Amino acid sequence: MAENKNLRPSWDEYFLKLAMLVSERATCPRMHCGCVLVKDKRILSTGYNGSIPGDVHCEDAGCYIVDNHCIRTIHAEMNAILQCSSHGINTQGATAYVTNMPCTNCAKALITAGIKQVVIFSDYHNTQAEEFFKVANVDIVRLQIPGNLIEYNIDSYSSAKKIKAETVIK
Ligand SMILES: [Zn+2]
Ligand SMILES: [Zn+2]
Repeated sequence: MAENKNLRPSWDEYFLKLAMLVSERATCPRMHCGCVLVKDKRILSTGYNGSIPGDVHCEDAGCYIVDNHCIRTIHAEMNAILQCSSHGINTQGATAYVTNMPCTNCAKALITAGIKQVVIFSDYHNTQAEEFFKVANVDIVRLQIPGNLIEYNIDSYSSAKKIKAETVIK
């Protein structure tokens, strides 16, 4: 078995893995997408594709299809940017770690929010993102999908005490 120190992810792997974790909250079965905005190795915000506040979720009510696309959700990248806007956080010069290549509209929004680098591990259909990123001098970094296991072996940590199974967790 590998030593724990060998499992320590690089910064890129760490933030991509977080983007994968964030995507677990997505509500449209057509796509689960996660985005983490990062500046100076600090997380500014996270986002996943989901309905507007108060609306039904695709997974409960079915997708809202127009022209063969589900239009119900706000995309992960938009939600990450909007979280910054509602908290007054400056996104200029930040990096977007996204599970996939952004769609055309999200690419334009990321550019306009001042994002300078986009890191992804999968591509996306029908997007002109690359074309717009090129015009705006935004770097695209394509990496392999990081390991999707979270390494937390509680039994191997001598300082950790397990919570008893009968304890109610709220
Ligand atoms: Zn949907
Ligand atoms: Zn999008």
